[in-house]
Amino acid sequence: MNCVNLVITGNPGVGKHTIADLFIKQDSSYQIFDINKFAIEKEFGEQGNDGIEIDTVKLKDEIQKLNLDKSLIVGHLAPYVLEKSNIDFAIILRKNPYDLIEIYKKRKYQESKIKENAGSEILGIIANDSIASFGKEKSFEIDATNKTPEMILEKIYNIIDNQKDADIVDWLRLVEEKNEISKFFDY
Ligand code: ADP
Ligand code: MG
Repeated sequence: MNCVNLVITGNPGVGKHTIADLFIKQDSSYQIFDINKFAIEKEFGEQGNDGIEIDTVKLKDEIQKLNLDKSLIVGHLAPYVLEKSNIDFAIILRKNPYDLIEIYKKRKYQESKIKENAGSEILGIIANDSIASFGKEKSFEIDATNKTPEMILEKIYNIIDNQKDADIVDWLRLVEEKNEISKFFDY
């Protein structure tokens, strides 16, 4: 595998850290750069009603000063704090919103935070914002639902090597079919 800067992004709970840890286990020449951890270390986070709120403008400035060569950059804020030129591939992990809700409940997220994050997954906001920041040619979605971490990693290798094996994900249809749009959105 060539030397690439790889981003793993996606909503909380999609499996970013699980996959990143497995990736590093297979290739220890990579370093994980954890965006949230860095933000907290640099004290760019502020306690909000729904957990930590991060000043992404300051964070982006600080990240741009770093040398991120051969990094595996992990975090849901990736599209807002990285430039297209910083990275080679952005992997956006997606997960069925109904599965995500179960993960959020286990994490004891507040109801409003569950709704916000599941809603973001349904609308594909991070995928959309990745494409806006990094371009279509560098953004690849993987549906992580019902896949083992090993299967997901295999898809990431395929994407890096062949720019193939990405998924097309549309949860909106699924939620619409269940007639549950109003469960997630207050309008
Ligand atoms: P993130 O870093 O995106 O918030 P995590 O890696 O913490 O996500 O994973 C969220 C939860 O889902 C964890 O409990 C983790 O063990 C589980 N998990 C992650 N990936 C998978 C997978 N491919 N299959 C089943 N469970 C997974
Ligand atoms: Mg995580």
